[in-house]
Amino acid sequence: MECVYCKGKLKKSEAPFTLERPDYQIHWNGLPAYVCTQCGEPAFEEKALELIEKAVESIEREKDRLAV
Ligand SMILES: [Zn+2]
Repeated sequence: MECVYCKGKLKKSEAPFTLERPDYQIHWNGLPAYVCTQCGEPAFEEKALELIEKAVESIEREKDRLAV
């Protein structure tokens, strides 16, 4: 596996992930990812991306209840 940006080597590690939406923002301090040893760009694991998707789905489902 190589970095899509600089073709550097990827190392299994973790990286922060932020998702911005018009009315909220989700931030994880560390999710499993392959991080480029050259430029530091992370490539998140499929499993992590699926979990993010699920988390966002449930927030989208419940967020109206938080409306002021
Ligand atoms: Zn890179």
